[in-house]
Parts: sequence; structure tokens; C-alpha cells
Amino acid sequence: MKYKRILLKLSGEALMGDRQYGIDPHRLSEYAQDIKQVVEQGVEVAIVIGGGNIFRGVAGASNGMDRVQGDYMGMLATVINGLALQSALEDAGVYTRLQTAIKMEAIAEPFIKRRAVRHLEKGRVVIFGAGTGNPFFTTDSAAVLRAIEIEADVILKGTRVDGIYTADPEKDKSATKFEAITFEDVLKKGLKVMDSTAFTLSQENELPIIVFDMNKQGNLLKVVSGENIGTKVNL
Ligand code: UDP
Repeated sequence: MKYKRILLKLSGEALMGDRQYGIDPHRLSEYAQDIKQVVEQGVEVAIVIGGGNIFRGVAGASNGMDRVQGDYMGMLATVINGLALQSALEDAGVYTRLQTAIKMEAIAEPFIKRRAVRHLEKGRVVIFGAGTGNPFFTTDSAAVLRAIEIEADVILKGTRVDGIYTADPEKDKSATKFEAITFEDVLKKGLKVMDSTAFTLSQENELPIIVFDMNKQGNLLKVVSGENIGTKVNL
């Protein structure tokens, strides 16, 4: 395997499958199988999961809700997704721990870096919930932050698109895919990979990002073994 320790970022929306809202159990179990495949290869897997399938702070604020309140609701949504993913992984026979940035002792451990690393070394998948624990951030920022903290080799951003394109391929048919791209070129060309806080944090800490299609089963293993199927953002 090319990467020994990975941070997998899954968006909340990805969990919806073909639904308009919530969690598709079929999609969830497909993800669990994919994650199991890489764990079986001895890869250490940490996961940050989004909450957009349930609630986004910005959406709340646009309906007149206090932004901070909305963001906390969004963070709680990521914990719901984390619990769902944890249960799907355990059903698949994968050992897991859920750690949250906001303490919820009855359902998850608090985030403690050393403890997270210890779990990874023991072959447990660690899911990080509640984002960074702070409003005005996103789970992309949480993913980069946690990846740096646990010294992951790479961030794998699993999406429904198979890489970074010159334009949105779902809207523009003439868009072409980059095999690889530098952080600088992403910024120069104004491409959207992650929000700017997350992206800058990754660049400053020289942490590569690979964007790939997580909805094709087997892709995660391919990426981790070094196959160039997505787009890699490098220095
Ligand atoms: N959120 C937050 N701080 C964080 C992470 C998330 O306030 O550190 C909130 C924010 O409201 C966000 C929501 O949680 O909209 C869900 O996260 P995100 O939008 O990143 O989920 P995704 O788009 O990946 O599903």
C-alpha cells in the first residue's frame, strides 16, 4: 500500500445515496465494505464525516436562524452520521472508535490525539465527529486539522466526482480532468477543492489531498494502493 495512515473525508451528502435527505443504509454498508478492504491491508484509517445530509449552519442562517446555533446543529448532525457509520463498520466486522470534538461521554470518546493514534496503531478505525467543535468552520477544515494532528500521509476526499475538473463536470460537458495539480495552480485557476481555510491549512502543512469518486466500490483501495484514479493536489 502506498499510504500507511489515511484521513478519509466523507461528505454528509454522499450518505444520502439517491435520497433527498438523511442516510441511505445501502450506501452506508457499501462504504463500510470499502473501508474494511483497506483496513484488511493494514492501512490505518481515520474518518471525518460531514453533516450536510441533515443540517448546515448556513442554511439555517439563511432562514433567519442564529448562525452559531445552526452551526452547532450541523456539528451534531456529523455525530449522527458518525454513529451510523460506526454501526455499519462494526456490522462489517471492523473495530471502531468515535471521538467527538464536543464532549458527549455517553456515546463517544472525547477527541484526544494520543488516544486516537493509539487506536489507529491497534487497527481500529477512528471516526472524528462534531467537526472542529467550533462554529464558522466546516468538516473539510476538521479533516485537514485532524489529518495534521494524527500525522496522516494524505487526505482522501471521497466525493461523487472522480477528481478535479477545469469546470463543474455535472454542469459543463467540456470540462476536463486534472491527473494531478499543485496547490498554487488550484488557487490561480480558482478551482474549488475544499473551502479556503481547509485548503490553506493543507498547503501550509504540505499535506497532499486526493479527490476521488467514493461511489464506485473498490476505488478507495485503488487510491490507497497508489493507482492514479482521482486527482492529487501536491506542493
Ligand atoms: N460545522 C461547524 N464547525 C465545524 C464543522 C461543521 O460549525 O468544525 C457545521 C456547519 O454548520 C456545517 C455543518 O456542521 O454546515 C455540517 O458540516 P459540513 O457542511 O462540512 O458537511 P458536509 O458538507 O461535508 O456534508
